[in-house]
Amino acid sequence: MHSATTGQSFYDRLVEHKLIIPVGVPGAFGRGAVFEDVLRRFDAAVSRIAKDDGAEQMLFPPILDRKVFEKSEFLDSFPQLAGSVFSFAGTDEQHAELRDRVREGRPWSDLQAMTGVVLSPAACYPVYPSFTGTMPEGGRLVDMQNWVFRHEPSPEPTRMQAFRVREFVRAGTPDVVVRWRDTWLERGLSLLRSLGLPARSVAASDPFFGRGGRMLAASQREQELKFEVIVPILSEEAPTAVCSFNYHREHFGKIFDIHTSDGEVAQTACLGFGMERVVMALFKTHGFVPAEWPSAVREVLAS
Ligand code: ZN
Repeated sequence: MHSATTGQSFYDRLVEHKLIIPVGVPGAFGRGAVFEDVLRRFDAAVSRIAKDDGAEQMLFPPILDRKVFEKSEFLDSFPQLAGSVFSFAGTDEQHAELRDRVREGRPWSDLQAMTGVVLSPAACYPVYPSFTGTMPEGGRLVDMQNWVFRHEPSPEPTRMQAFRVREFVRAGTPDVVVRWRDTWLERGLSLLRSLGLPARSVAASDPFFGRGGRMLAASQREQELKFEVIVPILSEEAPTAVCSFNYHREHFGKIFDIHTSDGEVAQTACLGFGMERVVMALFKTHGFVPAEWPSAVREVLAS
């Protein structure tokens, strides 16, 4: 029998053990040295599995070209999660006004203007524009770790406003892309199970916004476009997704004009490990002191 842990009590335990550091905003916190050490070791374990795949490594900043964001159609589906960057571009008078209002605790958002960037809403979005054109035979495979922003403030520590995703993106013909996705689904499950986590995969859907959203979610699930690997962190009944597999079919290929070597519109798929969530699943399952974890688990994380 497992009893459900409230988000708040798990958060408090993580703070108590100096694994995370409160910063005052729900869904945001600092990471302590032990937390980061486990995260780095898990990252290295993923790298070991992927080492013979020949992926191109890329690193992007946590911001995205606003034009790319607009083209991606993210706002059609998830307006509630987006974070757009605004800044001040006014006159001296407006600056004085801004200072006064901030000091007096009055609203000041109308004194800011939209910039050319948004916070990255998904780890893989920056990569697709770099694929534009005809890909080499066999397509492309990219390996990244990016910070992602989602506007969903919550006291529940696994629901973060900013988190890291170790993400792989595959672009190519449908059979290549689907076979790759299926291989990683197996790899992901066996890696997490080797860490003593009771992981399983389920067909899933994204949190589409609004009345139309339910239909989009149902169709996504029906077409098996999204899978998640889930692990109980706060409860058995509502396990947490620690790894997400998305098959976009021709969505990005069409938007960013990506073609396979034989001239077809390229298909894409991505998979991402939610790094902080994996780390939290380990602390929840094995306790808050890594030195006391089972030796088999410590061995997988030895690096
Ligand atoms: Zn992705």
